[in-house]
Amino acid sequence: MPELRQNFFTKEWVIIATERARRPEELAAHRAAETVPAFVDTCPFCPGNEHKTPPEVMRSPRNSGEPWAVRVIPNKFAALSSELQPTRNLQHLRRRIDGFGFHEVIIDSPDHSSCMAFLPDGHVANILSIYRERYKVLSVDRRVNHITIFKNHGADAGASLQHPHSQLIATPVIPSQVRHRLFEALRHYDDVGECMFCHMVEREVEDQTRIALKGEHFVALEEFASATPFATHVFPLRHMASFGDINDLEIADLAHVLRTLLAKIHVGLGNPDLNFTVRSAPAEYAAAKHFHWYVSVIPRLTRVAGFELGSGMFINSVLPEAAAEFLRKVEVDKAVTAGAGQ
Ligand SMILES: [Zn+2]
Ligand SMILES: [Zn+2]
Repeated sequence: MPELRQNFFTKEWVIIATERARRPEELAAHRAAETVPAFVDTCPFCPGNEHKTPPEVMRSPRNSGEPWAVRVIPNKFAALSSELQPTRNLQHLRRRIDGFGFHEVIIDSPDHSSCMAFLPDGHVANILSIYRERYKVLSVDRRVNHITIFKNHGADAGASLQHPHSQLIATPVIPSQVRHRLFEALRHYDDVGECMFCHMVEREVEDQTRIALKGEHFVALEEFASATPFATHVFPLRHMASFGDINDLEIADLAHVLRTLLAKIHVGLGNPDLNFTVRSAPAEYAAAKHFHWYVSVIPRLTRVAGFELGSGMFINSVLPEAAAEFLRKVEVDKAVTAGAGQ
């Protein structure tokens, strides 16, 4: 029997179409195995080509005598420009703002062939610390209202360069999707006097059926009303509204949980294209009791079609409980050891 489930957070309904339920294996991407070289002469992100990118924002390690492990640069084809001021203009119903913002690229590794799923946990922790640093630096800019950190892996997920990298876009406005979610979370807080995410995470950890994996400080789970197959969310167990508040111990645990989850998806589902995004409260809500940041990992296993575009509702053909069980069972220790030398 198909059923409709409501997302506790967005209030959007999802059709869980068990009639057309497919086994998780049937959705696997089966991407043709290709050998990716560790260095590509023409790649602007490969070591030795640093002059082909705009001047560096920062690198790790900071000592410029050593080769870099992670590098941050402005996006050469930036969506927004930090040279502009966010001047607002309203004429009749036409509202405009000059395109101020920051658009940065975080190059994950000097190795062109590497993949975050198989980097050592310590290296992923280094990348996450750099996310945090850039997040905090840009958050204090009064012109910035919201920061999105994300990764596009694979062409169908929007990656235009193969060299592994993540991106950060700081905008002068709060996106309406974020605003809507903040309102819903605030409404719950006002009604019940608790953070809806803390409540949900606590119950899910107790229930176990939708948990993909759990670390000391983070848990990766399928939502009860998951909109797309294997969309997995990683929540901090401690209440925090802003990603900027993550501490070093938590960074180490998030690195392990996120990296293991990515490896499970890579191994279990045939390296599908995917996006992940850090969903944090805007800076002025950093201390909010009603919001709780998290990371969404969205494998691109199905396409958005007419019904989704027309209604905003999704049809998910994989039961969230089945997806969680599948991910729990994928063994990645061997694959991780094999890839850890990169
Ligand atoms: Zn490269
Ligand atoms: Zn919370």
